[in-house]
Amino acid sequence: VYFRGVVEFSNYCADNCFYCGLRAGNRNQVRYRLTKEEIVEAAEVGYALGLKTIVLQSGNDYFYKKDDIAFIIREILSSIDAVITLSLGERGFDEVKEWREAGAERYFLKVETFNEELYRKYRPGRNLEERIRLLIYMRELGYEVGSGIIVGLPGQTLEDIAEDLYKLSEMELEMIAVGPFIPHPETPLGSERPGDPVLSLRCIAILRILNPWANIPSTSALASFGMDYRARGIEAGANVIMPSITPSRVRLLYKIYPGKNEGCKCVIEEIDFLKKLVEDTGSKVSDSKGYSPRRFYAEGS
Ligand code: SAH
Ligand code: SF4
Repeated sequence: VYFRGVVEFSNYCADNCFYCGLRAGNRNQVRYRLTKEEIVEAAEVGYALGLKTIVLQSGNDYFYKKDDIAFIIREILSSIDAVITLSLGERGFDEVKEWREAGAERYFLKVETFNEELYRKYRPGRNLEERIRLLIYMRELGYEVGSGIIVGLPGQTLEDIAEDLYKLSEMELEMIAVGPFIPHPETPLGSERPGDPVLSLRCIAILRILNPWANIPSTSALASFGMDYRARGIEAGANVIMPSITPSRVRLLYKIYPGKNEGCKCVIEEIDFLKKLVEDTGSKVSDSKGYSPRRFYAEGS
C-alpha cells in the first residue's frame, strides 16, 4: 500500500459544484491560500516523514498562475526526490503541458459522473466532454492519469454507477478513485441522503478486478463513515492511502464535506495511525514511489 501526502494549499474555488463545500457560492466558508514557500515546506515535511508522492490539491483557484505552479513544482523537486501529483481541477492545455515539463508526473481529475444530465446539473458551466478531452491530453503529455466518481449523488442510479465503472475501466487509467457522496449543509445538496459506503466498497472491489494495475485509494470520504471503512477499502482492493499533510493552521478549513480532516491530530500521528491500520489488514506499507505498473505491462517491457 502506497502512501501519498496531500497538501491542500488553497480552498478558494471559482466553480460551483452542487456537492462541494468549497464552491464559490458558499459565502460561509472562511478561505485561505498558502504561499509558495509554505507549499514547498509542507511537501518537504511530508517527504521527511517518508512520503514519496506529494499531491498538490486545491479548489479551482486561478490566483495561482501557470508560472506559480511551475515554480512550486521545480522548487519541490530541487529539494526532494518525490513524485508530484496535481489535483487542481480543470486548467488550460498550455498550463498542464508546462507543469508536466516542470516535472509533475501525475494528474488527478475525477469525472464525478458520466451521466451527462447529472453532470450538467451538478457542475454548472462545465462540460463532461471537455473534462474527458483534458484527461486524454494529459495522457498524451505522459502524465499518469487518474479519475473517478462520487458514489450516491442524488438522482444517480445503480445503472449509472455500473456504467461509470465500465467507462472508467475503458479509459485505462493509472489511478481510479471512488468515494461516497457526503452532503455538506452549505450546499444545494445539503439535505440529501449520503452515499452508501458499502456500495463504494463494492465499487472499489469491481474496479480492482477490472483494473488490476491501477492505483486505487481508500479515500478519506470513505473514512468519514468510520475509520473501519478505510481498512475495508484496502481489503476490497484499494492499495493507496492519502493522508492530508496540510499545515494544521488551515487543514480544518479544507471543508469539501463535513468531517474532512477532522479527527487527525498531527501529521506524524496520523501517518503512524494509518500505517498501523494498513498493517492490521495484513497488507504491507510500501516506501516506494508507487508508479502504476499499467504502462510497464502495456508496453510489454
Ligand atoms: N478542485 C479540484 C480538486 C479538489 S475537489 C477538482 O474538483 O478536481 C476533490 C474531490 O472532492 C472532487 O473530485 C470530488 O469528487 C470530491 N468531493 C467534493 N465534494 C464532495 C462531497 N460532498 N462528497 C464526496 N466527495 C466530494
Ligand atoms: Fe471546486 Fe473541486 Fe469543489 Fe468543484 S469539487 S467546487 S471544482 S473544489
